[in-house]
Amino acid sequence: MLIVHKYGGTSVGSLERITNVATRVARARDEGNDVVVVVSAMSGETNKLIDFAKYFSENPSKREMDMLLSSGERVTAALLAIALQEQGVDAIAMTGRQAGIKTDRFHTYARIESIDPTAMNNEIAAGKVVVVAGFQGINEDGSVTTLGRGGSDLSAVAIAGALNADACEIYSDVDGIYTTDPRIEPKAQKMDFISYEEMLELASLGAKVLQNRSVELAKKLKVKIVAKSSFSDAEGTVIGEENKEMEEVLVSGIALDRNQARVTLRGVSDRPGIAAEIFNKLAHEQINVDMIIQNASNDGTTNLGFTVPQSELANAKAVMEAFDHDIGGMDFDDSVCKVSVVGVGMKSHSGVAAAAFTALANENINIEMISTSEIKISMVVAEKYAELAVRTLHSVYKLDQ
Ligand code: ASP
Ligand code: MG
Repeated sequence: MLIVHKYGGTSVGSLERITNVATRVARARDEGNDVVVVVSAMSGETNKLIDFAKYFSENPSKREMDMLLSSGERVTAALLAIALQEQGVDAIAMTGRQAGIKTDRFHTYARIESIDPTAMNNEIAAGKVVVVAGFQGINEDGSVTTLGRGGSDLSAVAIAGALNADACEIYSDVDGIYTTDPRIEPKAQKMDFISYEEMLELASLGAKVLQNRSVELAKKLKVKIVAKSSFSDAEGTVIGEENKEMEEVLVSGIALDRNQARVTLRGVSDRPGIAAEIFNKLAHEQINVDMIIQNASNDGTTNLGFTVPQSELANAKAVMEAFDHDIGGMDFDDSVCKVSVVGVGMKSHSGVAAAAFTALANENINIEMISTSEIKISMVVAEKYAELAVRTLHSVYKLDQ
């Protein structure tokens, strides 16, 4: 088998930890696999380099920032190759450029456009472990580019796709994806499998484990991801294509997003174009609107509610004030949160939403807003009920068993 391993910043956070990674890679080799390793910078290194640049400039040139930041991953790649060689494993370190990674021209948040795997394939054929510096490529001018924070996950998935690898194992300090945040519900269980779609919806659970863009790319390239810990031999969670087994599970996980604020507009003139005006203006101000609810109107006016990230509430207020001739009254609440129930099994089962509403009602938790998609039910509730709502939903769908 050909396996891509990706090690995050904490997994390579010290020289001892790099030795530990080399041992894991050597073991995967001994088991008869070809291995390509993608590494992050040692933890804290990227931030340190950013601070260095800030010492000289408020607004350093992005091209030079890429020169600077890409060095963190190169250090780790070279050190790991040396550590592997020392353990008797033939290894070669490569930069993004040497690994054939071409990106678009946007410095500091470039997108991978193509990967020419020839050089990596030649080294694999020669029996070597290829260690690639993550988070980087080159653009058409030949300048180094980086892929945005957390971007070495993206490098790993893209490389796994280009090499047609059997799996992309992403190592961090957590051993997989849990049914909910174990800090809120200690009975949370590690999942064996989860579909790409569910993983994207549960981003708030997995944000620290996997970068979201890398999950989108894996879905597109059909790369099987395994989220694992580099500090244990636990099994990990497979993130892959939805299958029959997954559909039998009604609900896979409960996600919590605390960064929500609610805007309610009352007595909004109910005329064609009003929603377009309001939401165009919010979009123009780069305010991300999440849930939107509008009531059927009576007496020519309607109520309209929506949520925005807490940090954007002040901007949203300012935008709404410009509409006051069209709006009877407004109120804002930043002490709300969004709890979501996610599962592909919802597509084929009814009653999943009713069970959620009943469970929250039994705890006297008022649901302020609801929105649903094929595989998700989201509810806005008062922030003070966040933990209780998560635990209640987690137990109602028997995720603790
Ligand atoms: N070193 C980069 C960062 O800290 C990329 C990565 O770790 O994935 O964002
Ligand atoms: Mg990371």
